[in-house]
Amino acid sequence: MILVDNEVVLHIDNVKAGYVVGRRFIDAVSSVSLKLFYGEVFGLAGESGCGKSTLLKVIYGYIEPPLKRIEGSLILRTKNERLSLHELSDDELKRRVWWRYMTWIPQGAMSVLNPTIRVRDHFIEMFKLYSNIDKREVYRLTTEYLEALGLSKEVIDAYPIQLSGGMRQRIVIALALLFNPILVLADEPTSALDVVTQKILLEQLLKVQKERGFTLVLVSHDMDVHGVFTDRIGVMYAGKIVEVGSTDKMFAEPLHPYTKALIGSLPRLGDKSIRKGLSGAPPDLADPPPGCRFHPRCPYAMDICRREEPPIIEIEKGRIVGCWLYVKG
Ligand code: SF4
Repeated sequence: MILVDNEVVLHIDNVKAGYVVGRRFIDAVSSVSLKLFYGEVFGLAGESGCGKSTLLKVIYGYIEPPLKRIEGSLILRTKNERLSLHELSDDELKRRVWWRYMTWIPQGAMSVLNPTIRVRDHFIEMFKLYSNIDKREVYRLTTEYLEALGLSKEVIDAYPIQLSGGMRQRIVIALALLFNPILVLADEPTSALDVVTQKILLEQLLKVQKERGFTLVLVSHDMDVHGVFTDRIGVMYAGKIVEVGSTDKMFAEPLHPYTKALIGSLPRLGDKSIRKGLSGAPPDLADPPPGCRFHPRCPYAMDICRREEPPIIEIEKGRIVGCWLYVKG
């Protein structure tokens, strides 16, 4: 994939956010900068608790106490305008950005769907809020979107509670894609499903993504998912982005010791040796270690790693890493 600056859909610059709990500040997103490009599938990887879901919430603007954005900017580039998301009020975000330009697919469908309302009424409500098409057209579009995700049109008359987890998640995805957004944020969209259903659903989501050309940010702790479904990956550790690169290059030659550990622990075809997982756990973000946050778990840690935070270095166009091992001189 060729990265061209004028094809940036979202520019995240130096964003810092976290949770204020009493007098403690949990530093969940620490000075994150990223560019997302039109039409790509960008994977956010890392263990649970590394800040991936919080970053997604901050991008979407779904910031409710105790979550707080401290600083940084988020610029969304649509075909016609340049929106400074960090300057918009909640009301402006809802009116101008959510659903039209940017949508969010959460982990659990039931946090979005009302179990006592039929599927078709969820869609009618959405169309009432964001467009003025008549009921017959709503029905036609709804069945078309549901069929694109492998659901029969009979589902439209069901209540969410009568459907399986996979069917409900497909409905949430269909709702999220209703108004052809340019940026879709999917937070572990299949984690509550069995492995076979996960794979089928991700394949369907990716097929629709290719057809419509929106940018998809896919959060997953599963590196296998990233290896199969993403174009580029950003690896997060303890609230920081530690490596970004194309999926192919990252899997062929991971740079950061944390990325190496994540990829190295995956089983390989024909290799019967026991793969070693990463020992230890991510740090407490209310009191992260000084220097490189990964140093207590890193087999390559040096003195400087314990004292000073490593800079983010661009190794080649689009390939960045935050690790002292790559600092020359
Ligand atoms: S900066 Fe040091 S501790 Fe951190 S990942 Fe690199 S080598 Fe390991």
